[in-house]
Amino acid sequence: MYYKSDESNICSMLRGLPDAIAVMGGNAQNSSIRGTVKFYQVARGVLIVADIFGLPVSGQACKNSIFAFHIHGGSDCSGNGDDPFANAGSHYNPGSCPHPYHAGDMPPLFGAGHRAFLAFLTDRVTVSEIIGKTVIIHDRVDDFTTQPAGNAGNKIACGVISAVKR
Ligand SMILES: [Zn+2]
Repeated sequence: MYYKSDESNICSMLRGLPDAIAVMGGNAQNSSIRGTVKFYQVARGVLIVADIFGLPVSGQACKNSIFAFHIHGGSDCSGNGDDPFANAGSHYNPGSCPHPYHAGDMPPLFGAGHRAFLAFLTDRVTVSEIIGKTVIIHDRVDDFTTQPAGNAGNKIACGVISAVKR
């Protein structure tokens, strides 16, 4: 059985401009991290495509790097000595849901060497509502259980979501 999908032309869509983009940058200990998270509004939700470079590598067997990945409700990648991205705030959560049912909760990034690539569809947000919010990469795996943020460790990279002018 074949279901026609509005994502069936995904490859041509990904060659075009996204509706919004977050340009990611690492904290002082992870200044090599860079990359983009692109947001494409489609009929059934938002297609999110993360392409990240310069991630740390654990180098340990059975400890492959997995990085929790969320949209945060704050609008700024600034902070303080304890948390350089503190002003990114908490997981974006307009519905007052528990983790991992926050609108801003996303699948984790699986490290492939220093690289990670992830593409997925979510209907928890629209592109327009997340313009000006932030994307955060954490240094640990998201356990999808612990409140309020999955015991995901430190914030190691951040980017502000900006609309793409057409
Ligand atoms: Zn969450």
